Amino acid sequence: MNNWKHVDPAMAIQGEEVLRRLNDHGHQAYFVGGCVRDEIMNRPVTDMDITTSAKPEEVMALFEGSIPTGLQHGTVTVRMNGFHFEVTTFRTESGYEDYRRPSEVQFVDQVEEDLKRRDFTMNAIAQDYAGQIIDPFNGVTDIERRIVRAVGLAEERFREDALRMLRGVRFASIFDFDIDSLTWDGLLAERDKLPHIAMERVRTEMDKMLAGPYPARGVRLLMDSELLHYVKAPVKLSGLDRTALSLLDKLPQATEFRLGLLLLLLGANSNDADQKLRAWTYSGKVKDRMTELLDLHEAVLNLISKIVKEAQMELRSRYLEEEWKRSVLQHGVTASEDWHALNSLLPQSFYDMSNEEYLLLDELMEHAAEWRMEMGIYSLKELELSGSDLLRVTGRKGGPWLGETMNWLLRQVVTGQLVNKHDILLEATKKVISDEK
Ligand code: ATP
Ligand code: MG
Repeated sequence: MNNWKHVDPAMAIQGEEVLRRLNDHGHQAYFVGGCVRDEIMNRPVTDMDITTSAKPEEVMALFEGSIPTGLQHGTVTVRMNGFHFEVTTFRTESGYEDYRRPSEVQFVDQVEEDLKRRDFTMNAIAQDYAGQIIDPFNGVTDIERRIVRAVGLAEERFREDALRMLRGVRFASIFDFDIDSLTWDGLLAERDKLPHIAMERVRTEMDKMLAGPYPARGVRLLMDSELLHYVKAPVKLSGLDRTALSLLDKLPQATEFRLGLLLLLLGANSNDADQKLRAWTYSGKVKDRMTELLDLHEAVLNLISKIVKEAQMELRSRYLEEEWKRSVLQHGVTASEDWHALNSLLPQSFYDMSNEEYLLLDELMEHAAEWRMEMGIYSLKELELSGSDLLRVTGRKGGPWLGETMNWLLRQVVTGQLVNKHDILLEATKKVISDEK
């Protein structure tokens, strides 16, 4: 017992305690699924699922304070000294409707029967209290050979639950595994069942993949299989540059960053992205971050081409700096940081630009962070003069002039033409107003 190397030892002890108590009462019990797989693969294990011959009510009776999480599917959450374990009765599934989740489960007596309903061989391994492995589908060998293989007939398994196709790609991506050729054939044959899967579940798989160590591998598999052409809110990846894709793996393992790079590589515009990200059930926060990034990207490309067209050589740097600072005000600091980090990775070939334009982009890449810091403030509320100060001092009524003046002040401050001091801002405003008269 307790030979787990990649589990918090305190959790392993409690988990084993759950198995032991079940065994002591005459029930079979095993650790199963992700925890066994990850332990074999020397990956950190964060939770331990348990499968048992005990019926849910027997589990409930043995463990005080347990929670009936999904009784109809046989799942009880057992609490042991601060740790939670999902304990699920051995079961088979049937009556899959609409290519997702079973409508019925039958409890069974044999662990092998339970393992049979699981998706991939690497997820269909059980381990008992003594550390003995039950592996009827040779999951351990597949892990050693680095293969994602469906349990049983791939087509059948994907037809039962279409989400498994995306899980398969996700596992191949995260672990840098190959997909077994029959499993791959099954996936191609059944991919048209994907519209039945809720986009939220599709997104979860995508997010896990993007947060993993080899997202580029996953995206290539999605391109090759065209799985995303078939989901409810389809996305075409065919235009993606496969070489540039490898940049994905180099970014920090944050979904939002990587999603941003994908959108840039896809040449997405912010309106389309807005719609797609909504349909993919991304949060408003993620969606806004992505659309600001794309808007800023478009703004930068436009300002560069405008400066090259309209400004004399010796004025270009100054305009570039001013326009960048305006863009940061408009799209926000986060977008400017995201944009800068992502664009510093992209090769020149990514941009459809003249050499003259590219030189300017290069100059921006060099100074973007420094210019952003120089700005000092980023919003109206950071000005040392408020809208109500302005109303009081001028004695005017509110109206569009107020916002325009405030924004003008902000631009003057961030471009270093005015110092952010109450009196200075006030004087400047009075002067502009009297000049207008
Ligand atoms: P991770 O937690 O890293 O996403 P996991 O393998 O633990 O991976 P879970 O979704 O937590 O995945 O599921 C636990 C186990 O339940 C899996 O290992 C697998 O045996 C089984 N399982 C999960 N989803 C499915 C499915 N759609 N079809 C068949 N078996 C599944
Ligand atoms: Mg899990």
